[in-house]
Amino acid sequence: MTEKKNETAGNHAIVVKNLEKVFGPIRAVDGISFSVPFGSTTALLGGNGAGKTTTLSMLLGILYPSAGSIAVLGHDMTNDRYTALERMNFASPFTDLPRRLTVRENLTVYGRLYSVPDLPDRIDELAEGFAFTDFLDRHYGKISAGQQARVALAKSLLNRPDVLLLDEPTASLDPDMADKIRSYIEKYRKKTGATILLASHNMPEVERLCDNVLMMREGKIVDTGAPQTLIHRYGLRNMEDVFLKVARDHGNNNAVTALLKKKKTAKKKSTAKKKRAGKND
Ligand code: ATP
Repeated sequence: MTEKKNETAGNHAIVVKNLEKVFGPIRAVDGISFSVPFGSTTALLGGNGAGKTTTLSMLLGILYPSAGSIAVLGHDMTNDRYTALERMNFASPFTDLPRRLTVRENLTVYGRLYSVPDLPDRIDELAEGFAFTDFLDRHYGKISAGQQARVALAKSLLNRPDVLLLDEPTASLDPDMADKIRSYIEKYRKKTGATILLASHNMPEVERLCDNVLMMREGKIVDTGAPQTLIHRYGLRNMEDVFLKVARDHGNNNAVTALLKKKKTAKKKSTAKKKRAGKND
């Protein structure tokens, strides 16, 4: 990873500055800036419509930003994205693969697009890792939603990406399979040093996999931090509670400031109360 670390200032695989996406009257992404360090897993969190998928789509070059800049692996994604795209990949259970092709045919097509050298072996290896050797030769359109999600994940790892974008990767998986997939993602990152950006609604998944969290609401980033830091800062029990707190804190873009202010006032009150109690003793 040393060579890769030199590619962007500050050792970040993804650098986003003042990014905006406007769809007519809707500001889907409203001037966000963030950086993702090499080799980390960062969560992109937010309620429905917060702007996560739009952000991921701009990172992949599927959508053009209305304003702002994105650099991935040191390449500007507006003018010079193809070199970076070769080293990136993406999975979402909501994007379909051609349904009339078999799973193997689909993976072969995508593998060729990425010029994967050892393609047949790589497909077998991923089929084993994601437990779909049994249905490699079935039509993609005739396997279940959870099975399709596993194939989509395998597709995203075909080219052994250095930057992996995952949009709700375990949304349609049963708890046992979701656990296996999380282990696979963890091992992949440890083994390759890949950088992962993960949009998820599953908070235990975020606590387990992510070093850092970007919390979005209404197209803006309203808070960031490591999961344990956020849990501690808000004085809550887990990321589920933090998510609910931030998502429901409408009308106040700086949820943390408000919460800290509230905590400070409570502390002042409690200290004053203790002092008064001391005087009365
Ligand atoms: P979810 O958790 O529901 O997947 P999200 O955070 O991924 O939500 P986005 O899909 O990025 O949210 O949508 C952000 C906003 O942009 C929403 O208000 C959505 O309706 C709007 N939007 C997204 N794509 C388009 C589009 N092509 N045209 C118009 N509006 C869009």
